[in-house]
Amino acid sequence: MTEEMITINGMECRVKPGRSIWETARDNGIEVPTLCLLKDAAPTGACRICLVEVEGMNNLAASCSTPAQAGMVVWTESKKVIAARKEILSLMLASGNHNCGIGSTTNDDWTEFQLNAETYDKDEELCPAWGDCRLQDLAYRYGVKTDDAARVPARYPKETVNPLIVRDFSRCILCGRCVQACNEVQVNRAIHVGYRGTDSKIVAGTDVPLKDSDCVFCGECIQACPTGALVEKKSLSSWRPWEEKKIRTTCPYCGVGCQQWLHVCDGKIVKVTGVEDGSPNKGRLCVKGRFGFDFIYSEERLTTPLIKENGTFRRAEWKEALDLVAEKFKTNNIHHCART
Ligand code: SF4
Ligand code: SF4
Ligand code: SF4
Repeated sequence: MTEEMITINGMECRVKPGRSIWETARDNGIEVPTLCLLKDAAPTGACRICLVEVEGMNNLAASCSTPAQAGMVVWTESKKVIAARKEILSLMLASGNHNCGIGSTTNDDWTEFQLNAETYDKDEELCPAWGDCRLQDLAYRYGVKTDDAARVPARYPKETVNPLIVRDFSRCILCGRCVQACNEVQVNRAIHVGYRGTDSKIVAGTDVPLKDSDCVFCGECIQACPTGALVEKKSLSSWRPWEEKKIRTTCPYCGVGCQQWLHVCDGKIVKVTGVEDGSPNKGRLCVKGRFGFDFIYSEERLTTPLIKENGTFRRAEWKEALDLVAEKFKTNNIHHCART
């Protein structure tokens, strides 16, 4: 049987059945940028960044949601494609509060701005996603400037009343990844796209704060968000991606064994994320795994074993405590076997 092939950027690529152009490109080592495509969720084509040129088609096609068909001739970085991506990125940056320098209408000196950003890192107005934002990365990559674009001010105020999550609508690009993460990946169904047109907003319930909705604070939406629109409250002003060390570990709570990345700055955990390709959780975490790490630094944390005798605890050595546990296990097993 002849293999079905398409041509991407002049290269002959094998097509697997049911794959999109985006997937086929990736299968063949060609990266097409996207801001909305989420692993384990249906492609929506919402951000339009993955547009590609397909010879014979009148319009650029969203590669994530266009099936790859044998014989197609595709260009992923043609002049037309790059011009469209730049236009889309510039519109995104012009909408809301993208103050990381790329979206600035006044600061032309990027290097100086970078230095300032490091110095004034504690400035709450500076985007907490600076250096860890896919929109910023793409704006760099395509050299997008928004100096000439009309700036559209933020429509909705920042939501800071939630215990663990800050929602900054001024940095939301309405990619929909958080909605898919909540509905399709975690199946919590707490958020959706509300209102219409330029009033569109990601809303919880009837547009209430997350804390008053069905949100269970699993934080999956934060992990999915490509910008600074959703951030962990705990890591605000205490974390910059270039300062962190990532340590992989297993969640200490239940027996599922979810794989975690501990983001550590100055020897302290500042945030926790799920390992995207790690089993069994494939990037997902629950509220305890993602946010419940403060106990590690509690002054009340037990550092030596305690043995209860006559209703009160006394300190013990590890050997004595472990021997006692082993002894009790044996005794309980004997009782259990005797009963059954
Ligand atoms: S969300 Fe991204 S692009 Fe917008 S200000 Fe923050 S870092 Fe910059
Ligand atoms: S924290 Fe979890 S439940 Fe809440 S909105 Fe985000 S994904 Fe949905
Ligand atoms: S909050 Fe983040 S993930 Fe959700 S739509 Fe906005 S930018 Fe996308």
